[in-house]
Amino acid sequence: MAIAVVGSIHADFYVKTKRFPQPDETVIGSDFAIFPGGKGANQAVGCARLGVETYMIGAIGNDYIGSLLVENLARNGVRVDYVYKASCNSGVAFIILNEETGENMIIVSPGADNALTPEYVENSLRQLSNKVKIVLTQLETPLETVYRSIEVAKKMNMITILNPAPARELDNSIYKFIDVIVPNRVELQQLTGVEVNSIESVFKAGEKLLDHGVKAVVATLGSKGAAITTPWLRAIVKAFPVQVVDTTGAGDAFMAGLAVALLQNMDIVEAVKFANATAALKITRMGAQSMPTRSEVENLIS
Ligand code: ATP
Repeated sequence: MAIAVVGSIHADFYVKTKRFPQPDETVIGSDFAIFPGGKGANQAVGCARLGVETYMIGAIGNDYIGSLLVENLARNGVRVDYVYKASCNSGVAFIILNEETGENMIIVSPGADNALTPEYVENSLRQLSNKVKIVLTQLETPLETVYRSIEVAKKMNMITILNPAPARELDNSIYKFIDVIVPNRVELQQLTGVEVNSIESVFKAGEKLLDHGVKAVVATLGSKGAAITTPWLRAIVKAFPVQVVDTTGAGDAFMAGLAVALLQNMDIVEAVKFANATAALKITRMGAQSMPTRSEVENLIS
């Protein structure tokens, strides 16, 4: 069985500078690099690298960057048959890193991510209904598209997993279609209004989401691992201690690990342990998409 990821596909343009330009000023920067990104694409690459058949349902623009982004997904083993080419620019982020202060300035142009329609996603999921068991979504595409994918997937008996990132307010009526919601601490606080400053408060906030109809809440806690709240379980699953190199994409690696583990029928505690291991390996490497393979994850766990 396969995983479908409904979400964003971006290119991140990074340039380093010793100081930010003033309005109307030009500053000569130093290193420049383009990295593939977007939470949807990162999570799809994560699932495919773990050896599972993975379909990306997303949109690119009708530009050169879009072709590069699709090539990158395919090279990583992601099925790109359901990546739609919209008549606009691909989603991009311009990131200026100040080498002196460590601050950054970012402009995002979501472009094609905003062109991913509920109808397109529904048709794609219907065509994939005999292959896909798990649908993963995030919040970098229009909310009505996110809602439709979760509702349609649930009505087709698929397992629905939502990573509510970046934080946005959600309609309460969607929660009953969500099997597993995976917020980080900030997102958990924003979704529930509970001040998340202790383990007890994480469980309290988790229970609020259960009251809305979610089946399970897995809150990621950075170096502390993750907390599981279900109607019958409250558990902390510890992170794997590793040398941190780059935490970008840690949350996306966690999502991929969790989805792959649930696809393979692990129970929720084992699945979160597998997700912690996937994320831990990712943060030992630079880049949002430097995701581990299944054997690397199994070696770390054993
Ligand atoms: P990001 O935005 O950086 O992708 P996030 O805010 O979505 O991350 P976090 O809760 O910071 O999510 O981290 C996700 C997971 O990554 C954690 O649940 C944990 O498994 C792993 N992780 C993060 N930081 C560390 C760390 N320092 N050591 C080990 N594991 C970590």
